[in-house]
Amino acid sequence: MALIGIDLGTTNSLACVYQKGEMILIPNQLKKYQTPSVVSFTERGLVVGEAAKGNLILSPENTASSFKTFMGTNKVYSLGKQDFLPEELSAFVIKQIVSDAETFLNEPVTEAIISVPAYFNDSQRCATKLAAEMAGVHVERLINEPSAAALYYQMTYGKKDGCIMVIDFGGGTLDVSIVECFENIVEIIGIAGDNHLGGNDVDNEIAMFFCRQNNISLDNLSDEEKAILYKQAENAKITLSSNDIATMVLFAQNKEYRLILTNQLMAEICDDLLKRIKKIINQAVKNCSRRPVVDDVVLVGGSAQLKVLQNYLSDLFGRQVHVSPNPEKAIALGIGVYVGIKLRDEEMQDIVMTDVCPFSLGVGARHSTQDQTVYMETMIPRSSMLPCAKEKMFYTLYDGQTALNFKIYQGEQYYVENNLELGEITVSVIPDKAGNQWAKVTFMYDINGILYVSVQSCTGEIKEKEIVNEKLHLSQEELEKSKEKLTTMIQSQLNLDENELIQRFVYLYQFASPMEKQQIGFAVSNLENAYVSGSPIVRKKTYENMKGLLKELEYHIFQEINFKDLLYQDHEFWDEEE
Ligand code: ADP
Ligand code: MG
Repeated sequence: MALIGIDLGTTNSLACVYQKGEMILIPNQLKKYQTPSVVSFTERGLVVGEAAKGNLILSPENTASSFKTFMGTNKVYSLGKQDFLPEELSAFVIKQIVSDAETFLNEPVTEAIISVPAYFNDSQRCATKLAAEMAGVHVERLINEPSAAALYYQMTYGKKDGCIMVIDFGGGTLDVSIVECFENIVEIIGIAGDNHLGGNDVDNEIAMFFCRQNNISLDNLSDEEKAILYKQAENAKITLSSNDIATMVLFAQNKEYRLILTNQLMAEICDDLLKRIKKIINQAVKNCSRRPVVDDVVLVGGSAQLKVLQNYLSDLFGRQVHVSPNPEKAIALGIGVYVGIKLRDEEMQDIVMTDVCPFSLGVGARHSTQDQTVYMETMIPRSSMLPCAKEKMFYTLYDGQTALNFKIYQGEQYYVENNLELGEITVSVIPDKAGNQWAKVTFMYDINGILYVSVQSCTGEIKEKEIVNEKLHLSQEELEKSKEKLTTMIQSQLNLDENELIQRFVYLYQFASPMEKQQIGFAVSNLENAYVSGSPIVRKKTYENMKGLLKELEYHIFQEINFKDLLYQDHEFWDEEE
């Protein structure tokens, strides 16, 4: 009975085991380590991997790829005559990986450690676990992808003390994490990411550029022509990682179209994407629990090989960034290290890895009875080290109130409606004057990302809940609806200027530190209360004061870090000679 590690990637999936002190990557039937995360359902049956990837061009309507991007959502993929959810398609990939591993190891695989983007929320994590269970394997643990990459580097490159920034740029996701390695402790101190930014977007930019240069419209191409164009774009991109020039050719509508690409042109084509990457790096540094000084920047993931990215980052940081020799295998090998730790291998015994909470966790609350809306009272801010526990007291707002109700949320938005609701607990109190009765709320978040909430009322009543699997998922549509509802609600009550000010505070909230979040909460509540007071003087004064605060906060929150100051300029952490 074996325990394997699985890097369940958006584009490619890999498996790794730990045997006799070594991480061993598992080859598939084609003797390759990477199995494309592609599923195709044709009349001949179900195919996964390389064969399915071929069907992206031959039979696009029966083939699905990049479904990891939609994990935890209700998106339905219709392949042939059947409908599938993203987790079902992922289950097929896991099944294939497990079956290849069983052949290679010659024993059944019953347990797996699976990596997920650090920025996956509760729904996405649950969907991943579900996928594994559907494939018949128990998930021993979910591990964050950048943490796995960091573990691999710590193991391979000399177990040195220092701080590294790991940038994982794959096919569909970007993850940036800042990791401190001290003695045998690997500590993730800050993360940021984008689940919708990857090598696919680079292909897309190239394809659009191709169409513009050749004066053709993407809409006029057939599905097959489109698929060929995207494949051509990817091939050209890959060629440019080892050559200065690449040629694209497309036969469409009885004509031949061509484009010659260079890395210089790529810098222009990818300008917007590169700026988005810079923003995420900026956010990762701001999310750190303490200000980091980075010894080295390490690039992993298939798209780490992009010359245009390497050059851009080296310019940004003022020093050459480090590209992993096998960037697309780093995560899988890191999970292999973790498998070793789990198996209590002697060599791995004393490595400890700590992780951070990717999203803030809190309860819905109101500052006063006059508050128009329920805001997020954060209990555990994002980037808190795991495991962690926090408690807070909450008091009754009304005379004669008989219960205190706590809805639990995950997310960075100011209004709870825009965050992910995870559950609810209600305790009773004795009717009394407002503020006399209370309840103590305790949040405990464990290393696997499972949240336990307990609420104790002053009457002695205690209620506890393990918050997992009972999430209420908001679809994009529902999210838009609630946002719209909110805007119209506020607009009807406040004048345009006050409303705009509140909107700007609310927008800022998601990027703010815990301290700044408190200031924003105070500001919004002040503006709403000033409106309720009905006094034009109070309203005007509050408006002016809060406008000043907004300016100050915007300056701090959006102030760009100095990338060159962030990185030690005089030494390299990973000495190539060693
Ligand atoms: P994921 O983590 O999303 O499964 P990978 O880490 O396997 O993805 O990376 C896949 C991405 O890497 C694809 O977008 C692919 O086009 C890109 N890629 C692979 N090889 C190269 C290369 N030599 N140069 C640039 N991009 C590459
Ligand atoms: Mg990956």
